[in-house]
Amino acid sequence: MSVAQGREYLAIPGPSVMPEAVLQAMHRSAPNIYEGALIDLTASLIPDLKRVARTEHNAAIYICNGHGAWEAALSNVIAAGETVLVPATGRFGMGWADMGRGLGIEPQILDFGKSTPWEPDRVAEALRADAGHKIKAVLGVHVDTSSSVRNDIAGLRRVLDEVGHPALLMVDCIASMACDRFEMDAWGVDVAVTGSQKGLMVPPGLGFVFFNDKAAAVRAAMPRVSRYWDWEPRADPQAFYQYFGGTAPTHHLYGLRAALDMIHAEGMEHVWARHARLAEAIWAACEVWGQGGPLRLNVADRAHRSHAVTALHLGAPHGTALRDWVTQNLGLTLGIGLGMTEPDDPAWHGFLRIGHMGHVNGIMVLGMLGGIEAGLNALDIPHGTGALEAAAKVIAGA
Ligand SMILES: *Cc1c(COP(=O)(O)O)cnc(C)c1O
Repeated sequence: MSVAQGREYLAIPGPSVMPEAVLQAMHRSAPNIYEGALIDLTASLIPDLKRVARTEHNAAIYICNGHGAWEAALSNVIAAGETVLVPATGRFGMGWADMGRGLGIEPQILDFGKSTPWEPDRVAEALRADAGHKIKAVLGVHVDTSSSVRNDIAGLRRVLDEVGHPALLMVDCIASMACDRFEMDAWGVDVAVTGSQKGLMVPPGLGFVFFNDKAAAVRAAMPRVSRYWDWEPRADPQAFYQYFGGTAPTHHLYGLRAALDMIHAEGMEHVWARHARLAEAIWAACEVWGQGGPLRLNVADRAHRSHAVTALHLGAPHGTALRDWVTQNLGLTLGIGLGMTEPDDPAWHGFLRIGHMGHVNGIMVLGMLGGIEAGLNALDIPHGTGALEAAAKVIAGA
């Protein structure tokens, strides 16, 4: 018997769960975009976004998803024919590189596989080999959402500094911002990109690009920049429409205001600590399940695991069977595996991911883990016992 009636829970790595406060803030008639409250509200978002990215520098908002934010960032600082270095640890590093190819940029990819972080020595070697400084930027994905690998951004900055290479450090924080600790200025990041629908808890539709003065200087020297992606007027608008290069994404802005209020009321340190605690509870359960069956965490080393998404391998056909079972019977949606095999490969059905980003608390995680346990039992997938107790202990801080 299905017991799926009730509130559905989407535990995928974006879009994330939207808080009631965000939904309610968006539920209103169309506002005046020429004067009044919306203009002030938009201006108020900028400092609060910068506090999330931990930067004193500039922020530009785009009406787009994460792919758009990727293109926006590249369009401002990398010209066609120029080279970028991409240390990839999963599908998303490859995706950003490919976005560059579409702009005529030449990505030089260092492939670190799908379950381990990048190796600083290999990045250093590639930078040292570039004596003529053809590489204009290093594109690093902080958390690769396909593999759930979390990379060391401050360490990547150290590599650039030690080699003495002038390339910009550009970072994709789409899956990590407001989930995993990220310190744009302290870590020496020149450009950071994110989107609205993950840690920021707002529906898909807004992209954000943060950039410092070094990146602004590169932008100023560009031969030309796409009018729409140009971050200059957006970050320093002389008229309201310039924030968005046209009509404002009115309702998203109300939602974002509510989300930023929640994030800053909780405090960035606490937001990060909450994500860490919940992630550790998920890992604890998965490790126990794995002791008596095929379930494996994709990233072996805890120090390199995301606090926002967990990639798992259960073996085909169990991954898909489990996802289907919890959706149909419990109203719980888990994420598909991404980028680990081609979708037409039967092995594809062995992979899955859990999203635990944004508006997630202890009871949601315990409920989600209980749902997986029920599915493992119902489908006769072998697994260790005591996973929920292990997770509950972590949640309790015991
Ligand atoms: C989700 C995500 C993207 C892509 O964002 P879309 O909104 O789906 O275009 C890119 N990079 C990372 C790390 C992501 O998690």
